Amino acid sequence: MEPLTNIVNSLNSLPDRELVSRAYVFAREAHEGQLRYSGEPYITHPLAVAGILTEQHADAKTIAAGLLHDCLEENHGVRECLKKEFGPEIFFLVEGVTRLGHLKYKGAERHAESLRKLFIATAKDIRVLLIRLADRLHNVRTLAAVPEEKRLRIAVETIEIYAPLANRLGMGQLKEELEDGAFPFTLPEEHTLVKKLLKEKRRETQPRLEKMYRALARSLAVAGMKNFSIDYRAKGLYSLYKKLLRYKMDIEKVYDLIALRVIVESISDCYQALGIVHMLWKPAPERIKDYIATPKPNGYQSIHTSVFVGDGTVAEVQIRTADMHREAEYGVSSHMAYKERDMSKRLAWIDELLKLQREYKENEEFLENLKMDFFQDRIFVFTPKGDVVELPEGASVLDFAFCIHSDIGMHASAATVSGKYSPLDYKLKSGDIVKIETKKTSRPSHKWLDYVKTSMARKHIRMSLMPKKEED
Ligand code: MN
Repeated sequence: MEPLTNIVNSLNSLPDRELVSRAYVFAREAHEGQLRYSGEPYITHPLAVAGILTEQHADAKTIAAGLLHDCLEENHGVRECLKKEFGPEIFFLVEGVTRLGHLKYKGAERHAESLRKLFIATAKDIRVLLIRLADRLHNVRTLAAVPEEKRLRIAVETIEIYAPLANRLGMGQLKEELEDGAFPFTLPEEHTLVKKLLKEKRRETQPRLEKMYRALARSLAVAGMKNFSIDYRAKGLYSLYKKLLRYKMDIEKVYDLIALRVIVESISDCYQALGIVHMLWKPAPERIKDYIATPKPNGYQSIHTSVFVGDGTVAEVQIRTADMHREAEYGVSSHMAYKERDMSKRLAWIDELLKLQREYKENEEFLENLKMDFFQDRIFVFTPKGDVVELPEGASVLDFAFCIHSDIGMHASAATVSGKYSPLDYKLKSGDIVKIETKKTSRPSHKWLDYVKTSMARKHIRMSLMPKKEED
């Protein structure tokens, strides 16, 4: 009962409290007699999901739907009852997160079809995805009790699909917990290794960080800055693992292993703090990233800089305002709480998701493209005008051209990448400024298929390579 009290107490209005309490009673009755793998009563799960949604500042209807989210699964008698008692809006949310029945679909087919259904509902109401992610988080937290075969499937799916979705929503904290919860079950040996590496390194860096912390706090105060806070935190284990893979497991090359995080009052304070950091420690060249002036496409804002701290080592410092910090930790859900309804721009990718699911009728193809185009690590490159274009890691000049416009792709001949002449198969990296050159005579060839990574580009090239039908 205590988790419920906490949830109810966090709500301000009486009708909200009443709604959530009613949803709890309904869910408890619907799950009467059911147990989780851990042996606990089933209701502990929806209750935990509602608790997670509360922490993420979700609204009362989302929390109520969180409590009800498993009521419809394989239980058809409940449908009408739930609709009548909670109305169409909450019914839509619950129905949206409900997976497809075992009877109609089996195994992998069921997962793919359930994802399609989830995306379609999400495009209508983003709260469906917030509930699904909270559901997944609790399932990952309790993964140890799940039978082995199912456990691996859930862990892999979490890393391949749900963590990237959380990332796309700008929910940094959730993404990290999903990844780090699933990591030991997908790659147990690697997990143990990375954990050990981090622990050793931490012992070494801790005193240095404390020294930095004190020096920086003093300097910020001397500069007259008010209401700032500094903390330091280690990188998530799974994202550290991915970075280590890039550096051949050499932990010395990972500069943002433990970053010092400075939270200040205003944007101008951010830049002043950056100046102070650079006066204290020399910045490493080309390691300053100003995501305040140019936010990441998921809305992330912060200034990152890496500095030399004396003994030849480099440390990362991140500077942001309190608002940016809230945004980085909670992303979209922090907007919901503040009733900022205009999320259309940042959620344009949900339309892409929908398009993808419409385009690929075969489940296998759909899943493969989803993982490849959508959930790969992303790079951010710029048009000459400064517009940001997001592409999967490893994308080429030609992918960029097709991303701008299919006509530009079809007639691309070369490009200027950050001032240098580059061929079509040139692999782009974050920060590149790309200007495509086109020629009327240039057109797709079979070779082009090896140059591209995005499914959109591949599709256009394939289509133009198909033999044209003779006209009647
Ligand atoms: Mn559930």
